[in-house]
Amino acid sequence: MGEFELIRHYFAAAACARVGGDVVLGIGDDCALLTVPVGEQLVVSTDTLVAGVHFPEPSDPYLLGQRALAVSTSDLAGMGATPIGFTLALTIPSVDSGWLAEFARGLDAMAAGCAMSLIGGDTTRGPLSMTLTVFGRVPVGEALLRSGAQPGDLLCVGGALGDAAGALPIVLGERDADTVEAATLLGRYWTPQPQLALGQALRGKATAALDISDGLLADCTHIATASSVSLAIEQSRVPLSDSLLRFAGAEQALQCGLGGGDDYLLAFTLPADALSTMQSEGWPVHIIGHVEAGEGVRLVDADGNSLNIAHRGYNHFTS
Ligand code: ADP
Ligand code: MG
Repeated sequence: MGEFELIRHYFAAAACARVGGDVVLGIGDDCALLTVPVGEQLVVSTDTLVAGVHFPEPSDPYLLGQRALAVSTSDLAGMGATPIGFTLALTIPSVDSGWLAEFARGLDAMAAGCAMSLIGGDTTRGPLSMTLTVFGRVPVGEALLRSGAQPGDLLCVGGALGDAAGALPIVLGERDADTVEAATLLGRYWTPQPQLALGQALRGKATAALDISDGLLADCTHIATASSVSLAIEQSRVPLSDSLLRFAGAEQALQCGLGGGDDYLLAFTLPADALSTMQSEGWPVHIIGHVEAGEGVRLVDADGNSLNIAHRGYNHFTS
């Protein structure tokens, strides 16, 4: 099967490649054409996943397809954007039709849940990797940036943290996957659900936001730096799931929640007067701390005393 037949069969024919809405022209020409409504801005982000670095090889291609798109789309959630579509630059070692069909099916499943369309890409031969560029839109001036946090704001997250990090020993084959807890954690690793609706609901309310990909402490440091403030995280308020607590134990679960990566949940700062609206509308808002004058991130006990930080999160270029 040649390059063009492959693209046609597995990608152009996928349900998520149908044009419509903001996508005027999709796969097949030199470029895709998108319409951005008057009064909105285009929101763009790109992510690369490399076999052996971002996922083990071999991995289930269906899960890989879902995860690749979820990871990329989560950046749109972190900006409060409405999703439009994505391109897929795929490098594969060989044409394996079973693998491609399952990978495309996984992409399709996540694309349906996120209202994303596959609008183009590139297909090359080489060691397995994939680069997804995602496109979304947001009303002018309403994107959620990292830079607006103000002393006095509450620091919040969109759900229980650390589940995906807790699953890592199972993903890497170091622990068995035969318990209910293990299955739950694996689900959170392979099929994170980008918090797109929450991000959109935070427009005009959150003063800063991002999606947590490298671990709570590391990502909160980004908000602190961009906003020139300090964030105090109350250790006992970091939400941890029962599955993680049972699977990893309290101490390890906390390490996963603070420093483990791959959560793909939102962290955001919220003025106190916006909190009740968000809560009365039923959004998952967990208060874990507050913004204060200063710099960096502090881990504190219930009385505000600083605690030691054992592990700061994942960085590709430091050990
Ligand atoms: P060009 O040579 O003009 O860059 P290509 O031959 O690489 O175009 O691709 C042909 C069409 O197929 C383009 O519309 C491109 O966006 C799309 N395409 C290529 N690879 C993929 C892929 N993996 N997924 C989705 N669309 C793809
Ligand atoms: Mg090309």
